[in-house]
Amino acid sequence: MIPAVMPTYARYDLAFDHGEGAYLWDSANRRYLDFGAGIAVASLGHCHPHLVEAIREQAGKLMHTSNLYNISGQQRLAERLVANTFADAVFFNNSGNEAVELGVKMIRRYQYANGHPERYRVITVQGAFHGRSLAMLSAGKQEKHLKGFGPEVDGFDQVAFDNLNELKAAIGPETAGILVEPVQGEGGMRPMSKAYLQSLRAIADEFDLLLMFDEVQSGVGRTGKLYAYEWTGIAPDILASAKGIGGGFPLGATMATEKVAKTMTSGSHGSTYGGNPLAMAAGNAVLDIVLAPGFMENVQKVAALFKTGLDDIAARYPTLYEESRGTGLMRGLKCKITNTDVVAELMENGLLSVPAGDNVVRFVPPLIITPDDVKAALAIIDASSRELAEDAA
Ligand SMILES: *Cc1c(COP(=O)(O)O)cnc(C)c1O
Repeated sequence: MIPAVMPTYARYDLAFDHGEGAYLWDSANRRYLDFGAGIAVASLGHCHPHLVEAIREQAGKLMHTSNLYNISGQQRLAERLVANTFADAVFFNNSGNEAVELGVKMIRRYQYANGHPERYRVITVQGAFHGRSLAMLSAGKQEKHLKGFGPEVDGFDQVAFDNLNELKAAIGPETAGILVEPVQGEGGMRPMSKAYLQSLRAIADEFDLLLMFDEVQSGVGRTGKLYAYEWTGIAPDILASAKGIGGGFPLGATMATEKVAKTMTSGSHGSTYGGNPLAMAAGNAVLDIVLAPGFMENVQKVAALFKTGLDDIAARYPTLYEESRGTGLMRGLKCKITNTDVVAELMENGLLSVPAGDNVVRFVPPLIITPDDVKAALAIIDASSRELAEDAA
């Protein structure tokens, strides 16, 4: 008989009971150092007292009202995101998929509102992951995700990673915008170069296309800035945020400049749950912490320490690893052996990581990790690598 929970996930035989900071405890009370953070979600680690208190307090007051009424937490969170980013306005949703898909709707809406209803196609990049709805599967075009769910939703053209010639050649009279992850996460922790992202901005401006960044994974401090675009000297027209923004509470946000946002007139989009008081309490509590003076500097500092250690490990085990790559606290080891074998070995030794595409082991720890946490993780990765290298020999 089929299990009651639909069999869509290949789960590890492991269940966690509670967490604190960068650590999780399983049902047998064994402790794990969590460098997966629920896939880059637990930005403040587990059970951060400020986040717990904010959610507890709001839950006891008011959880949900719908968007038929004003929600003061939305006003506050939106104003703070606007004050700290390129954006002029924000729409709140419940997941990464929703945040990106709304951005694609906005690309189309902007072109429509500006006299170009024929422009509806969006260019994406190989290795992309934008979510699991029919439209976002068609944007990502990953065969393993699309299989059996065809036909694809029309309107997406995909070009090679880091290839401007191919991208320019893909622009046609129906092209409306460009959608990329400044750092591909699921695709294998691949940062796009500053020069490439700057060129995308120039190309978008030249052809009156909108530039959208999917920062669902790279956002909210993950790269050592609130959003990764801040490293590039340019800004997108639209940005999708989720994962870390709620610190574990489901929350997404689609942000845009005024020229785009103003085309999303009353009735053009909506969500029953999106931006409800409880989610807003979580989002505001996360921002309280990540916007505090010194927080990003600390992320940059521990990230540099982690990078140095991972680079060293990659160099010392050339039979296991091709390279260490990524940026900030979004790092990966590109493997020569099967990535899931490495993830399993790390887990056995008490460190949680996440497999990613392109045979990469992904490390996306909570942003609150200390240098000691980094040293502990590196020690486990080193010891596990030694065992794996001996097994392979
Ligand atoms: C995880 C992710 C998504 C999808 O987010 P969900 O919350 O699972 O819908 C979209 N884009 C990127 C870059 C992601 O990492």
